[in-house]
Amino acid sequence: MSLTVLMNAGPWLSVPPPGYGGIENVIATLVPELRRLGVRVVLASVESSTLPVDEKVSVFSEGQFASLQRPYNQVCGIAQAHLAGVVRELRARDDIDLVHDHVEAVGLATLAAMGPTGPPTLHTLHWDLAKHPALYGSLDGGGRVRVNGVSASQLDRAPRALREHSVGHVHLSTPLAVDADRRSRPEKGEHLLILGRINPGKGQDVGARLAHQVGFPLVLAGPVGPYHRPAELAAAGDEARQNPDVRFFLDEVAPHVDGDLVRWVGTVAGQERDDLLASARASLFPLRWEEPGGTAVVESLALGTPVVATTRGCLPELIEHGRTGLLTANEEELGELVLAAELLDVDECRRVAAQRFTPAVMAQRYVELYQRVRQLASVP
Ligand code: UDP
Repeated sequence: MSLTVLMNAGPWLSVPPPGYGGIENVIATLVPELRRLGVRVVLASVESSTLPVDEKVSVFSEGQFASLQRPYNQVCGIAQAHLAGVVRELRARDDIDLVHDHVEAVGLATLAAMGPTGPPTLHTLHWDLAKHPALYGSLDGGGRVRVNGVSASQLDRAPRALREHSVGHVHLSTPLAVDADRRSRPEKGEHLLILGRINPGKGQDVGARLAHQVGFPLVLAGPVGPYHRPAELAAAGDEARQNPDVRFFLDEVAPHVDGDLVRWVGTVAGQERDDLLASARASLFPLRWEEPGGTAVVESLALGTPVVATTRGCLPELIEHGRTGLLTANEEELGELVLAAELLDVDECRRVAAQRFTPAVMAQRYVELYQRVRQLASVP
């Protein structure tokens, strides 16, 4: 496979990300497998990214994540400055066979604006876009810009302009799924875990109330807005409340966080994250949004932790009810399911992850889509 792909990760976090980082994690997982398949990768990101690639392109020296707090026009300004750098690079060279873009809306619009002079582009949708049709407007790009979803349900809900340009979906994966079925079984602890951004869509408030109801300890791991540690949030004082996720945490979740039964541990990374996940009795996803891809769901399976969740978004595609987890459309039933999750076979979770959610499976599928996108753009 002699393809050169410009992988556009955007300016928000370095790749791999320092802790939390959905899109950047996906790229860090995908790129090594693509390179194993012979794809040359030019990474458009920030200078501080350490992922081994063939070449790097960057405008900013470090991740701009903290700027996401700023007013919307400033956030767009940062995204546009990054994209202008990518477009300059694309105009200056002719060896890029395909752009694999991950930068929401602005990135896609800019690449579409390059029209027939731009390389074929595959844009991966990472969010639930049903409520944001205007973000994408009318996609054209001279037939050279295509999109893929990270689940079938995400595409089903996407605005029509996007669905018309879709070449299918690719489920997310995790390096933890490699040989997951052969790993030793760690000791299970007592705790439930919610791993993810603290956000109303992820439902940490429901989880916290549930923990008190069933009497199982609950660990909440993930950032609150831009704050990764409880001490950081405390030090920020009232100003932090400008962020809606901070308001959600302080008003809806924190009243249930007693430091004993329910704890917020901040962002966890590396071995600490894996240990917390592998030793959990179940991972909870009391979702209130249509989860588009669910990396944390497949990570949980790979580490042998069954998933208890509301039937939202991609969950029914990733979880086989009664085999790798338990799903319900009714939030009120989550308590019963948490108790029943004891009966699920943790080895089965790992086996399924090792078959379906490895980086190799994901990379193979992307290579197929790259070929398809190039064919549709009539590149020989
Ligand atoms: N994550 C992490 N530490 C945390 C919280 C989350 O490493 O404290 C990682 C998590 O393991 C997953 C990613 O961040 O790889 C979140 O991706 P997901 O698709 O689950 O959610 P998103 O935030 O993209 O909606």
